[in-house]
Amino acid sequence: MCYKVACKKCGNYGWGGCGEHLKPLYASIEKGKHCMCRSWPGVVIPSSDKPSSSATVAATATTAGTHITTSYWNIL
Ligand SMILES: [Zn+2]
Ligand SMILES: [Zn+2]
Repeated sequence: MCYKVACKKCGNYGWGGCGEHLKPLYASIEKGKHCMCRSWPGVVIPSSDKPSSSATVAATATTAGTHITTSYWNIL
């Protein structure tokens, strides 16, 4: 199992070990306390992805809404 380590560079928590158990370890660390000096393989880090992913969700919702409206009018 991997374990959390205090990073001396940034004062947040990084990881040690094999690197294959990082998801639960990442989740166990408080938000904003994650060391980013070292990457977290296999972990989706929300803070850097937020703007682009929410924009994609909004675009998908709009497309789906338009499609539903069109089908509705075709039935009538
Ligand atoms: Zn491990
Ligand atoms: Zn660090």
